[in-house]
Amino acid sequence: MKSAIETGKIKYAVLMLIITAVFVTACVFYLLGFRFVLEKDNLFYFNEIATESANTVEIKLDTLITSMNNYAPMFSGFNSVPVEERAERIAAISDVSQFYDIAYIEIDGTATSSYLGNAILIRRAYFRNALAGVSNISEIVVSEFNGMRVNVFAVPVYTGDEITGVLAGAVESGYLNELMNSQTFNGMASSYIMNTEGIIILTPQKDPLGVDTGISFFDVISDISDKDIAANISAVDASGSFTFRFEDQDYFAAYNSIDISEWVVLTLARCSDVHAVTYNVFGLALAFTIAIVIIAIACIIILSIKHWLSKKRYAETVNERDFLKYTDPLTGGPSYEKFLDEVTAIFASKNEKENYAVISMDINKFRTINDRDGYDVGNRILVDLAQVVQDNLNTGEAYTRKNADLFYILLKYNYEADIFARVDDIISESNYNLNDLKITLLFGVYMVDDSNIDFRSILDHADLARRTIKNSSESRCAFFDNNLLTKIREEKKIESVMEYALERNEFRVYLQPKYDLRDRSSIIGAEALVRWFRDGKMIPPGGFIPLFEKNGFILKIDRFVFEEVCKQQRIWLSRGYDVRVISVNMSRVNLQQPNFVRDLYRICNKYNVPTKYFEIEITESVAFENLEILTRVFNELKNYGFYISIDDFGTGYSSLNMLKDLPVDVLKIDRSFLTDSGKNERANSIISHVIKLALSLHMKTICEGIETSDQVSLLSGLGCDMAQGFYFDRPMSIEEYEKKLYSHYPNTNLR
Ligand code: C2E
Ligand code: MG
Ligand code: MG
Repeated sequence: MKSAIETGKIKYAVLMLIITAVFVTACVFYLLGFRFVLEKDNLFYFNEIATESANTVEIKLDTLITSMNNYAPMFSGFNSVPVEERAERIAAISDVSQFYDIAYIEIDGTATSSYLGNAILIRRAYFRNALAGVSNISEIVVSEFNGMRVNVFAVPVYTGDEITGVLAGAVESGYLNELMNSQTFNGMASSYIMNTEGIIILTPQKDPLGVDTGISFFDVISDISDKDIAANISAVDASGSFTFRFEDQDYFAAYNSIDISEWVVLTLARCSDVHAVTYNVFGLALAFTIAIVIIAIACIIILSIKHWLSKKRYAETVNERDFLKYTDPLTGGPSYEKFLDEVTAIFASKNEKENYAVISMDINKFRTINDRDGYDVGNRILVDLAQVVQDNLNTGEAYTRKNADLFYILLKYNYEADIFARVDDIISESNYNLNDLKITLLFGVYMVDDSNIDFRSILDHADLARRTIKNSSESRCAFFDNNLLTKIREEKKIESVMEYALERNEFRVYLQPKYDLRDRSSIIGAEALVRWFRDGKMIPPGGFIPLFEKNGFILKIDRFVFEEVCKQQRIWLSRGYDVRVISVNMSRVNLQQPNFVRDLYRICNKYNVPTKYFEIEITESVAFENLEILTRVFNELKNYGFYISIDDFGTGYSSLNMLKDLPVDVLKIDRSFLTDSGKNERANSIISHVIKLALSLHMKTICEGIETSDQVSLLSGLGCDMAQGFYFDRPMSIEEYEKKLYSHYPNTNLR
């Protein structure tokens, strides 16, 4: 079971690891994909920006050229304006334009500037181009007027259809450089203008390549990934992109041709700058993903711990529950449930040749031990006894303490003698001696001939066998036989009819006279003995009294007998007879009833019969089970005025010493002491001693079961006060008794 739990844990851990690994892998792939898409996006974005930059540059340059073209008509026929007026007129335009200086150039190259005077510009390319009718922008040139680095926007001036001059506007080279700068990628992208041969015409203000105008871009940059790039750039409407490496840096470059002077705008930016944005976003995504992974792993760990804890708690609860279910809390041995499980398993794997017996074992009068020595002592005995039984078990056998002092043992045997040997082992090993009280064990054995019959009824059979042992002072063992079952069936039958029988007056009271041994003809009283007449037959008390004592019905019977006697005494008293004491047997069960004596007294009151006409007989074996209760009940009886006798004296374990503190009036010596001839010296000596001792305690003695005249002579010789027995009279009906005792009265038998 434990290994199953361990395997479960390992499986769970592996599952969690797989989930975590899959999750982390998914995150890594997601990040790589995300990065790839971002980079692609960035490149696309860069190309867009490059196109945008090219457009912007084109628009700005075009605006400047257009403004020059707009000014040009104002110079139509300007050659006829006197030289001294020209500067002033040019200045008027120059002031409102974006050019820092504007010059008018005659066809011979003579230029008049607004502020800077005159110069000869015949060789300037922009001049020539404009003369050829092409509005154009110069590369950076050094001004003939003031030596500054400038770009010149030159347009032809028409007078009629004829080009009569060129209008040129100069901007500082830095002015155009500024246009080349892009604001994108944190200002890290720069744009160049080059012509279709790749000659750089304009550089940006921030020039990462540090190139001069007038040189070929492809001379500077030899490490270009796309070798056809030069050819592409020279194409009309060229646009495209490529990468290159320059001074240990990778660059993205995108080119777009513009409509001005067949120029191409080349925008470039360091790859690292372009990707910086990507990496920022990617960094965020990475951080976010890592955070999610950490949170997810933390969740998995927390869930796993919770899961593990709850599994652990569950396992502990199950263990605890199983422990409670399968363990006897007192002895730590197997519980009844465990025993049943074990027996089921043993019987399931039993082979034909194996014989099993079930033993029901208990401690004789265990309650007395608990009452006398306390529960701690009682418990210790049970714990030790369980250990003894446990130590005596062989493999394939089982035992349990079902409750209190009741143990069941399942044993294997070959011969009946084996069972006795095993029982003897248990008896000898549990040879306790506590406060002079020797512990006796009672064993009931059922030999299992058919393991398929309900195991509980097997246990019942063993119990039954054990219960057949009565009042034993030594450990004993009884075997179950089928007569016990017949007996039980009969008992069941009796129990089903007893109430009804009482209502129907099937129970009757018989009286057995008692005689004074000094005057053998004088009846001094009688003992009431119950009789059950059923279906025309008389059942003797031995056939039902023990059962009624077991099921409690004896309380009703004793009360019935007492009341019947009481009624009769009343009748006789009312008739004025010389009423004698009648003794009534009271079972031990009555002693436990809190109102026992009071109830008897009430019955006496009900019929108005004084208690002195009754003697209560309690058997000796019962008498000393609980001396404390007995003393209380006897004192109560005495206080109400009843006589008290100890019945069957000599059969129990009491001593006269114990008797001396009890208010007993009469000792009834059991008939077992009598021998037929009355000549057994030893038995006679016992009777003699009992009589003498009773005398010393001021008790009277009566001997019951007198059958012979020898016995009568012996007893009277020993000083016994009274006698009762078949020799004198058998128990008789009330009518017979009345006839016998009161026949001399005139109204005898008139009830
Ligand atoms: P016990 O109280 O000791 O009653 C005396 C028994 O001895 C009676 O048996 C009686 O018939 C028998 N007996 C009397 N003289 C002789 C004799 O000379 N020889 C022989 N062999 N026997 C003689 P019984 O009536 O069968 O009663 C048996 C026991 O049943 C009684 O013993 C008593 O313990 C119990 N018992 C009878 N009636 C009642 C009752 O109403 N209530 C209670 N609780 N127990 C009763
Ligand atoms: Mg009696
Ligand atoms: Mg008796």
